[in-house]
Amino acid sequence: MRLRHITGSENYVKESPKVIHDPSHHKGRWNAVFGNDHPIRIEIGMGKGQFIEQMALENPEINYIGIERYDTVLMKALKKWEEKEKDGTKIPNLYFMSIDARLLGDVFEKEEIDRIYLNFSDPWPKKSHANRRLTSPVFMKVYQQFLRTDGQLEFKTDNEALFTYSLEAIPTAGWHILAETCDLHHDPSMNEGNIMTEYEEKFSAKGNPIFKLIAKM
Ligand code: SAM
Repeated sequence: MRLRHITGSENYVKESPKVIHDPSHHKGRWNAVFGNDHPIRIEIGMGKGQFIEQMALENPEINYIGIERYDTVLMKALKKWEEKEKDGTKIPNLYFMSIDARLLGDVFEKEEIDRIYLNFSDPWPKKSHANRRLTSPVFMKVYQQFLRTDGQLEFKTDNEALFTYSLEAIPTAGWHILAETCDLHHDPSMNEGNIMTEYEEKFSAKGNPIFKLIAKM
């Protein structure tokens, strides 16, 4: 994804109380960050955060962490959260993290995460870049280090090539595909309770079908 750097975004992220700084410090103790023992779900590559914010608002008994590697993008999510705070909306069950997903094995302990969401992950179309795809076996092995044995990974995309690749790559890493659809918005059972992401709104408005799969280890 091509990104325009926004001056000051690093400082903005560094000073936000909503961002967990030095996340590896909390490895194995994330419940203490939230002050309860509710399950913890993460979105990797959350972009501007619409999905995870809405999930957190609708499910106060579940804790959420939005993960984004670019501060320029994360800052936009933080600004949206600040607007909500000004309106008096509190989201105590949501935090953010500025980190590359490759490093998440240093951040979460075995069995610490209940669910992983990957939404509209960058497709990295060149074969030589396949290991950068968030559904590649390289990343699936990272997730295996901290997802609960009975946990799940949910992946949505409008990119058919990435979806087809993922249907092969995920089992290659030893995972199982539990469910899949090639047209989420017209699949009543898979679409139940679906929260749209920014990209999902944009691409489905253009008429693109949305692909989704659910996987477990
Ligand atoms: N999930 C959002 C949505 O559906 O609207 C944003 C999708 S955007 C195409 C993908 C996001 O994933 C980008 O913001 C990108 O910076 C982030 N991302 C890609 N690779 C990542 C990685 N290895 N670790 C953390 N974030 C990553």
